[in-house]
This record gives sequence, C-alpha cells and structure tokens, in this order.
Amino acid sequence: MTTEEDPALDDPVLDGADPDGRHPDDRHPDDRDEDGPHGGAGEEPDDPSADGGGTTAEVALPAPRPVVVVDGLDRDARREIGADYRSRLLDVAQQVLGDRFLVDPGDRSRPDVYRDGLVLDAFDVTARCPRRFAGPSDDAYRDSVRNGRRRVALVALRHLSAHGGTPAEAVRAAMADRSEWPVGLARWFEELDRGGRVALAAAATTWVVGALRLVGHGPGTQWRPPFPKPSWTLPGRLVRVSAAVDATAGNAGSGDRLLVLADRAPAAEDRLRAGFVSLVWTVGKGEAPVRVALGSPATGTMQRLTVDTALLDLALDRTEELLGYLAEPQGAPAVPGRSCALCDLLEDCPAGLRQLSAGPSPAAGPSAPSTGDPTM
Ligand code: SF4
Repeated sequence: MTTEEDPALDDPVLDGADPDGRHPDDRHPDDRDEDGPHGGAGEEPDDPSADGGGTTAEVALPAPRPVVVVDGLDRDARREIGADYRSRLLDVAQQVLGDRFLVDPGDRSRPDVYRDGLVLDAFDVTARCPRRFAGPSDDAYRDSVRNGRRRVALVALRHLSAHGGTPAEAVRAAMADRSEWPVGLARWFEELDRGGRVALAAAATTWVVGALRLVGHGPGTQWRPPFPKPSWTLPGRLVRVSAAVDATAGNAGSGDRLLVLADRAPAAEDRLRAGFVSLVWTVGKGEAPVRVALGSPATGTMQRLTVDTALLDLALDRTEELLGYLAEPQGAPAVPGRSCALCDLLEDCPAGLRQLSAGPSPAAGPSAPSTGDPTM
C-alpha cells in the first residue's frame, strides 16, 4: 500500500529559508505542548441575545450543504471535493482580506510569505488565544531535548522503514546526517554537549518505540519527510496554510489515510486539529483524504476520525476567522489559558496577568486508549 505523492502538495513550501535564515519548520515545529487544541474564541456558541432580542425579521438562510463522507468515494469524487475546497478557501481569503496580501506580478523583490504574508499553521488553528498573533511568531518556543525528540524520531522512522535495524541505530543515523534538518534545530544540536546528545538520542529512541507500538511495523505505513510540512500557498496571494502529516497509508483507489503524532494525548477537542490537517491535505493535494488519526507515542493513545465535509467545514470556518485575526492581530480577542505563562505579550495583557494570578487551568480532556492499528 502506498500513497501516491502529488508534487503539488509540497511545491509551494519549497520557497527556501526565511529571511533570517531559519527553516520554515523552525517556526511551528508542531511538537509544542503548550495550551493544546481547544478551538478558541471562534468556537464559542453565538449568543442568541446578542442582537438585543428586538428583531423578528426573517432572513432566508442558504440551504445546509449535505454532509459527504469521503471514505467510499472514488478518486474523481475525492478530487472534486479537493477542487471545491480550493475554490472555497480562495473565496474565504477574498472575503476576509480583499486586496490585501495579493501577489504583485510586477514586484521584483521576491516577496516572502513568512516575511510579507500570512502563514496559518495547525498550531495556530488549535491554540486558544488569537491575540498572540500580535507577538513574535515563535513566542517562547525554544529547542530542547523534549521539543526536539519528535523531529529526530520522525527522521529515524523514515530511516528505519528504508534500511531496517533497531530504533537506536535509526536514531543514531538520523543524528549523524543532519543535512535536511531545519536550520534552528541543527544549530541547537551543534551546541549540545555529549550529555545532551545522549539524552536526545534516548528520548528520540523512546519516541520511535512508542510510535511503532501505536502504528505497527507494517509496510502499509509510509513515513513522510518531517521537513517541510505539507502546505498550500493560495494562488495569487501571500497566504499559506500548513499542517504536519507524519505518515500516510492507502493508495489511489482507497484514498489517503493520514497520521499525525504529538506528545499530548489526543482529546475530544482535537476534532478541529484533525479537520485542519485534512483541509490542508485536501487543498494541497487537490484530493480529500478518507481518514485522519491523531496519535501520541508518549501516552500510547490514538484517535481516528473519518473525514467528511462537516469536518472540512469546521476547519474552513476557523481558517476564515483566524485569517482575519492574522491580518489584524491587534483586534483579535485575548483568550487566556495555559499558554499565557509562555506568551511574550503577557506583561501588557491584563487578561493574561489575571489568568496567571488565578493559578493553573485544568488539563486537556480525556482520550481514548489505543490498541494499535497497523493500518491507521
Ligand atoms: S497573555 Fe494570554 S491572553 Fe494575553 S495575549 Fe498572551 S496568551 Fe493571549
């Protein structure tokens, strides 16, 4: 079982390094374990009294779109969904941004989407507080053994499936060849002393073992290169959506099944995260996936979701909301949570300071245990 790679999925991200020399994947490594996926302000239900309760005028609403489950559709139908969501995402960008963040064909300065445009990553979509867009893009994220183990382990998993051997050998090989590592991660590694490298190797090996326990060793799993992430740059705009996909299974006939691994145990709120990963894949490849699985090697848990148009719509709605906040972050609502402790805006944010003095917020919700599934 292999997944047919579509170059269109990855091409847009290969724009080169950031202006500051950092690899794009240093900005949102997808292994941060801060506030977790909780939706955010945009997910609060509308207050029916918000309009003052004084109007009774009936507004004709468009008929709800029927929900289409992707699994079971043939490839043409999955591609139709891909084309539909590409077009709808372009419409959303037009609605929210108008003539802002358009590519000027006459501009010879080679605009960079990270410097001059908007990049919406899975982490942004699921992080709670959109006001953080007004701060530095990398916030308080720092490379560390805990933060780096996932990326090293993902390189090792690819090595393992191509060359065999033990997890420890694969991690050693991944650490020896750093030619494709993001710049920031490679720099951090160079500065590690022997003890730090031993600790990283041990942590990454444990992560590899945990991932294989979750997913299995079968040939049906294709481990993807962790850098760069799948992404799609909207044609004619300096706007990009991106979301990591760590492995795929399936084929052109049955459709793609996606796997995303993180440290945290998946929770019920991760539906939004799964939806955004599916949306990026759908628009990037031009073909909807059939399923997405969120796994946590550290906790041995995995959550699988069937992809349907309701899931894609959930992500598209959140994308619309967040593109507006990204374009005008000073107007974004502050939604305090655990991430306040790491936020660079804390000193000037009364809501964040109140949150901090109130003490820790509750942990993320429960997750279902996994028995492991080699087919994801
Ligand atoms: S301190 Fe908290 S509420 Fe304020 S901007 Fe940062 S994350 Fe948002």
